[in-house]
Amino acid sequence: MDQKVSPEYIQTSLAASLTLGFQEGSFHRNAKLKGLNLLLHYEEGCLGRCHFCGLSRSRREDPKGKTFIRVDWPLYLLEEIIQRAKGKDQIHRVCISMITHPRALEDTFYVIQRIREETDLYISVLISPTLIHHENSLDSMKKVGADRVGIAIDAATPELFDQLRGKGVGGPHQWAHYWEVVRMSVNVFGRFQAGIHLIVGLGETEREMMETIQRGQDLGAHTHLFSFFPEKGSPMEKHSPPSLGQYRRIQIARWIINEDLGSSSQMKFDEKGRLIDFGMDIHPLIQMREPFMTSGCPGRDGKVACNRPYGNERPSGPIRNFPFMPEREDIEKIKEQMGMLE
Ligand code: SF4
Repeated sequence: MDQKVSPEYIQTSLAASLTLGFQEGSFHRNAKLKGLNLLLHYEEGCLGRCHFCGLSRSRREDPKGKTFIRVDWPLYLLEEIIQRAKGKDQIHRVCISMITHPRALEDTFYVIQRIREETDLYISVLISPTLIHHENSLDSMKKVGADRVGIAIDAATPELFDQLRGKGVGGPHQWAHYWEVVRMSVNVFGRFQAGIHLIVGLGETEREMMETIQRGQDLGAHTHLFSFFPEKGSPMEKHSPPSLGQYRRIQIARWIINEDLGSSSQMKFDEKGRLIDFGMDIHPLIQMREPFMTSGCPGRDGKVACNRPYGNERPSGPIRNFPFMPEREDIEKIKEQMGMLE
């Protein structure tokens, strides 16, 4: 039977599909995608069972209806994606998400190599640490053409990680191993050439989130921030997203740490672990606007290329990660969300 699976076929985010002209449509407020997100695809799906993920095997919905970080992932021929990406100056970077599957590592090498042969795009890999046991695998990714990797730690504490991704759901992932792979990645790709993904709102306190962002920073990995959104049909569909106030505080505090303006030890938290003092005046950072933009791997201009338009929210809802520079009126709303308007 003719199966449409990787590496010949690969999924793209809906945003990538629109940008490459596979589908018609434009983005709310004319956001422009700068990074193409691709996702390996197999009939068996991902072998992980992460509680919050739209790809999880514990999800109830029909596989055809699956979503992943809140967007649809249509399937196309890799060669056609490459041909369409070729002349698009708007695109700076491509990211290959591995998923946890026995063939994923080998197929990732192939996909990196094909993109490297045909385009001058920067290449990130969102790796599956559970499949990585030696630095050799990372070395090979670098040799065939990747310049960065991301590690989706997602849950900010070992307890939440275990509960949502590990033993608690009968899943294969292990917190300590994920951090070991962060260390290996920094070793192979260089300081701040590896990044970690963290999802705000899985049940961690703001203090715990900031301590984990600091841990990444100390190891040489910036944080790429996501806001939890309940995937329909996933076991966490009834869990609420974090409040906008919480998300804004974490965005600013992440900026402070990743830009090396301060550290989590200088921040103060209340008895519930809520951030009450950033250790510096945040008004200039709010006026600067950039801390509220999507955090991710950079493009040719050194600015974030992986801007994931509307990956965390409905276009109609308040924007959490701005895929463009927020406007002055967005900043007024942000101040309101942070309870900062007199
Ligand atoms: S930030 Fe974007 S480009 Fe970088 S690893 Fe994560 S998903 Fe990929």
